[in-house]
Amino acid sequence: MRVAVAGGGWYGCHIASSLKAHGVSVDLFEKNDCLFSEASGNNQFRLHQGLHYARSAQTRYQSRDGYHRFAERYPKLSTPVENNIYLVPKEASLIDFDTYFSIMLSSGISIEKIPLKSIDHIDAGRFEGAVRCQERVVLTSAARGYFTKRLNGTVNLNHAVTEVQQRDGHVWVDGVAYDHFIDATWGALPSASGESGSVYFEPTLLLYYRLREDLSAPFPAITLVDGDLWSIYPTEDPGVFTLSSVTHTPLGRYENKSRAYERLAAVDANLIDEKRRSMEAEVHPYMPGFKETFTFVGPQFAIKTKPKGLSENRACGVAANGRCFNVQSGKIDNIFYATDRILGALL
Ligand SMILES: Cc1cc2nc3c(=O)[nH]c(=O)nc-3n(C[C@H](O)[C@H](O)[C@H](O)COP(=O)(O)OP(=O)(O)OC[C@H]3O[C@@H](n4cnc5c(N)ncnc54)[C@H](O)[C@@H]3O)c2cc1C
Repeated sequence: MRVAVAGGGWYGCHIASSLKAHGVSVDLFEKNDCLFSEASGNNQFRLHQGLHYARSAQTRYQSRDGYHRFAERYPKLSTPVENNIYLVPKEASLIDFDTYFSIMLSSGISIEKIPLKSIDHIDAGRFEGAVRCQERVVLTSAARGYFTKRLNGTVNLNHAVTEVQQRDGHVWVDGVAYDHFIDATWGALPSASGESGSVYFEPTLLLYYRLREDLSAPFPAITLVDGDLWSIYPTEDPGVFTLSSVTHTPLGRYENKSRAYERLAAVDANLIDEKRRSMEAEVHPYMPGFKETFTFVGPQFAIKTKPKGLSENRACGVAANGRCFNVQSGKIDNIFYATDRILGALL
């Protein structure tokens, strides 16, 4: 069997690698000059357990299960976060702390309540409650290296797939016949599965900050839930964190990915300054010492493809149309969900 995969991010690489492990002949096409060059290399790098998603059971369950599979399958591609805290603010959260806690507990996610007074760096009076949970940081550089080696001979860099046609018992990808085609471009191609209009594209801006070196204890990962809130999360680079804001990270909402790329290309220094001021102002009431604790390093850009709807569903899905599969990526740890469906259909 001969399969073509478009997209050299987490989904395309893991799917191609799993097919290869089953003896399938795979060609992976990536339009840029290296793997993990778009969202997979530019995100918050959180291996989710599901705590971000109080409003979507499907997303919580996929993340909870994917988290454990990821840590087991790729033990060298993530590292534990020493002190990972989710906080429910008093006024700004969509749900109260007890509701949040019950949802997570009943979802089988292992959490512990922690006293607000025991958490450094925050204004404890602004919160209703806090939980600690084990989560991990995805080690993107190691992942890029791993898949570059593992997929040696399979990857075609600088090749943007432009034409996919099903005819004569094959699928023709840029004029070459394959048995199957998998679109793992996170929505960049007109959907080969026939489904369209159910997602939108959101260009994003996260900010990198470096932690002051003389702090005595490790700085915790801090995530405020649930709603239009913010989080500070470590990266693979010790001392460097990302700041992400549900309100200020999105740079618009577009019906197709090419318009989202154009929006990113038009970002200038003024916009970055403006966003930085807004994000720091948003954090300040909850963490008054933020600006003394961190130094701004620079911006990070990417594009999210999101299902329409208000429940914040970030679950992964795979749609099939004849010989073509279209992957709607969820979180990074949902790669197993997508791959199981494709292997189940093909092998
Ligand atoms: C700001 C932000 C924060 C996030 N934070 C987290 C997080 O903390 N934890 C988490 O689990 N997930 C997070 N995500 C989601 C995560 O990044 C995605 O789930 C994941 O990267 C999707 O992987 P992918 O391979 O589907 O997409 P991508 O990484 O976008 O890969 C798609 C690839 O397809 C290529 N491509 C596009 N068009 C073509 C073409 N025509 N031919 C060939 N190749 C093409 C692109 O160049 C790209 O490399 C975040 C995303 C963003 C944007």
